[in-house]
Amino acid sequence: MRIDLHTHSRASDGTETPAELVAGARAAGLDVLAITDHDTAAGWDEAADAARSAGIELVRGMEISTTHRGHSVHLLAYLPDPTYPPLVAELDAVLEGRRARVPEMLSRLRDLGIDIDADDVRRAARGTAATGRPHIADALVTKGVVADRTEAFDRYLGAGRPAHVSRYAAELVDVLGHVTSAGGVSVIAHPWGRSRRRFPDLDDLAELRGHGLAGIEVDHQDHDAATRAELRGLARELDLVITGASDHHGAGKVDHDLGVNTTHPDEYARLLDLAAIASARSGRPTPEVVRP
Ligand code: AMP
Ligand code: ZN
Ligand code: FE
Ligand code: FE
Repeated sequence: MRIDLHTHSRASDGTETPAELVAGARAAGLDVLAITDHDTAAGWDEAADAARSAGIELVRGMEISTTHRGHSVHLLAYLPDPTYPPLVAELDAVLEGRRARVPEMLSRLRDLGIDIDADDVRRAARGTAATGRPHIADALVTKGVVADRTEAFDRYLGAGRPAHVSRYAAELVDVLGHVTSAGGVSVIAHPWGRSRRRFPDLDDLAELRGHGLAGIEVDHQDHDAATRAELRGLARELDLVITGASDHHGAGKVDHDLGVNTTHPDEYARLLDLAAIASARSGRPTPEVVRP
């Protein structure tokens, strides 16, 4: 069983439609795929239809942009009721914050002599609810200013770079509560990825577990072998579910091909058990896993 629990479609900042993502998962020999677009369930229905016809197991999830003690934390939420009002309110606030800063970032780019307008970004975003930096990056690529998204973030859009503007993120502890109340389960994505070395640590994770955290993503391209070993140890100590995933974005991220990292079937089974408990306790209409 090959299980990939973290992927993006055009419903946020991936470059493939949800149906193309599912077809790609099938072609990559995956048995289970989770679609986890940033802060939205907009791709769920199309992905579920595609999974039913392709005969692949699909877990509906999302990756929520949160903050904890001044650090950005991406929280994967699996199988929550996407209509649970407090969750919807937080997602809307994040999406609005992401959209709202685009004009300011474009004006900073103009100050640098780079002329990208709102229409360029809109074209790059192709109707997603989660218009953000990746789409500004794509517009910069289209204009020939940079070669790819990575260069756009490194030179202009990343934290500390000249066109960067910070945005709203939801409080992690609040979101953990909302996901549980919505009948879903939470896993921290790439906990020590990018610049965030060793945060959250063992004590932080123990506390977050008390707030409902179910697991951490250990096998991710942003973690080297030593980081993975250390995170695996923390997860075992705290009895957290250990996941692995590609964080696939289509052509939007290199070295993130579907199935490049996977989740062990026993860990996946634990996650689904926890989700079933959360769903029953919540009394919410949670999505089922789509089974072939
Ligand atoms: P935003 O929510 O608008 O700040 O965009 C954040 C998203 O941009 C992340 O979730 C990644 O998918 C993507 N991203 C962040 N940093 C980079 C990078 N250095 N290269 C490519 N994509 C990135
Ligand atoms: Zn992304
Ligand atoms: Fe992420
Ligand atoms: Fe992601």
